[in-house]
Amino acid sequence: MEPVPKALPRRFILATGVSLLMAGCAQSAEPAEGEPGATRTGRTPITPTTNVMPLPPAAAAAPPAAVPVPAEPAEPALRTSPLYELSNPDRTAIALTFDDGPNTEYTPRILALLAHYDIRATFVVVGQNTADNPSVLARIYEAEHQIANHTWSHPDLRRLSSGGVRDELERTSDVVEWATGGCRTRWFRAPGGDFSPKALDACFQLGMSPLAWSVDPQDWRCPGQNYIASTVLSTVKPGAIILNHDGGGNRAQTLAALNDYIPRLLDAGYTFTTP
Ligand SMILES: [Zn+2]
Repeated sequence: MEPVPKALPRRFILATGVSLLMAGCAQSAEPAEGEPGATRTGRTPITPTTNVMPLPPAAAAAPPAAVPVPAEPAEPALRTSPLYELSNPDRTAIALTFDDGPNTEYTPRILALLAHYDIRATFVVVGQNTADNPSVLARIYEAEHQIANHTWSHPDLRRLSSGGVRDELERTSDVVEWATGGCRTRWFRAPGGDFSPKALDACFQLGMSPLAWSVDPQDWRCPGQNYIASTVLSTVKPGAIILNHDGGGNRAQTLAALNDYIPRLLDAGYTFTTP
């Protein structure tokens, strides 16, 4: 595992990374070219047997509203409690999140799928995996996805001291900053969603907000692609934050389910955003 350079690059990176922080760690590069193959087969035909939670009727009937342009993008205030659904979403917005990567096999395939549909998502990364696969994290960043902190070693944070928790979070923020050349993570998700008081305190002290989810298809336990897709489609609603995994094991079912449910959600009128 490569050591994480801290002192010298950090000072430089912090000086250059302020504007990137204001933009939520997105940069202007075009999305990476997707990979050919199974993930690029286009939209799956709709079958009448899957019931997508419909948008409220008003969403379809209302004319598009004029969008006021803010004078300056304000830095969002830190949250002290986990975010389960998007705050102030528009009537179609939902969010995809991917935990436990970056992974050399599945993360690039998910990136290709997201690029195909021009979707931005949030990748909730493990510090160790980032140190092992910095080029994969750089591809996530270059494709303008959001990067969030998922600890260094994916421990049960309730078993660690306050110092141990802070170390898990801080090392991960630092390795993300190193691998991206300046991105500081704004969101933190505790492994298993176990937001202990120590975890919430360290999160706040390190300038991050806690990120939870509202839709959990339990893809981590490989319940079958149909179960994953049908769970998402039957429980999604505006503001939903959907939990997926791009790392931590074989994610073939997750990828197949994404190929199934993303085009269905788009056809149902949903749009994808990041917290
Ligand atoms: Zn996890």
